[in-house]
Amino acid sequence: MLIVMDHFASPEQVEAVCQRIRELGLTPQPIPGGERVAIGVLGNQGYVDEAPFRDLEGIREFIHVTKPYKLVSRDFHPEDTVVRVGPVEIGWSRDPVVIAGPCAVESAEQVRAAARAVKAAGAHLMRGGAFKPRTGPHSFQGLGYEGLDLLAEAAREAGLPVVTEVMRIDQLEKVAEVADCVQIGARNMQNFDLLKEAGRAGKPVLLKRGMSATLDEFLAAAEYILLEGNEQVILCERGIRTFERALRNTLDLAVVPYLRAATHLPVIVDPSHALGRRSLVPPIAKAAFLVGAAGIMVEVHPDPCRALCDGPQSLDFPSFTRLMAELDRVGRLREGG
Ligand code: PEP
Ligand code: MN
Repeated sequence: MLIVMDHFASPEQVEAVCQRIRELGLTPQPIPGGERVAIGVLGNQGYVDEAPFRDLEGIREFIHVTKPYKLVSRDFHPEDTVVRVGPVEIGWSRDPVVIAGPCAVESAEQVRAAARAVKAAGAHLMRGGAFKPRTGPHSFQGLGYEGLDLLAEAAREAGLPVVTEVMRIDQLEKVAEVADCVQIGARNMQNFDLLKEAGRAGKPVLLKRGMSATLDEFLAAAEYILLEGNEQVILCERGIRTFERALRNTLDLAVVPYLRAATHLPVIVDPSHALGRRSLVPPIAKAAFLVGAAGIMVEVHPDPCRALCDGPQSLDFPSFTRLMAELDRVGRLREGG
């Protein structure tokens, strides 16, 4: 529940409401605003009765929150959250960031070449999967812990912070040690135990939208991480599965401005997994910048035709370098920028 105070409510009246919330065994979260002061009620597992507040002065209205999330919502937290990954800042009001690198770490040479090339082209963060969630068990599953070390080494040499996926709770400690940001992939978006543990791992989390998740489910999944005390969460739209089969997934860029209004957490777009085809990545990456995304994630490989994973959607180095130059121009025309 949100308790909205009168415009002229005194600090004593606000405190009296907070005190009453505490007496009910719940947690008050005052939300200062230009127009109104509101107080969020946290910790309830069902409907909060208005009756215990009726004798208090200065209350304008009660808003019952029916959504399955609070901490991620703008109503409870109007200010943008800025996520810090190494020295890189990611937020709605910041310059958009580019996360680039191969789908999977394949070898020391491959990941080192990718790190150097994406850094030279101007990427801010390096990606690369060591643990790969593959649809079939006969596909390349990633190099595991060895891949993690190769990725960390290559990114350190190039001077880039690292984002990499964790698939299981028992991998978290080692992944969080090596990575600057821990990725939870689309297939694990509703692995609630993993979300909770990731919230306690002490690193920023990049959470990808599940392939059949609604936006409310996406935000509710992020809420699990915030409830553990970690607000450093980046949301990543990567397309969803619909009846349309021409492209790998269906990407709705309206999600970006929608989520900007709904949440203080930054949202980035992954056109590579959304589209599945490299020729479509640059125009949609630019479109994501234009609609105000806080960044993009793009797959880049030294030799996409020989990639062990997601080659058809990976850019080679010259195409990525061209895209970065185009993004630089597009960035100046950005929505709200
Ligand atoms: C990835 O980013 O490596 C990945 C597997 O993407 P998704 O979880 O969005 O399918
Ligand atoms: Mn991939």
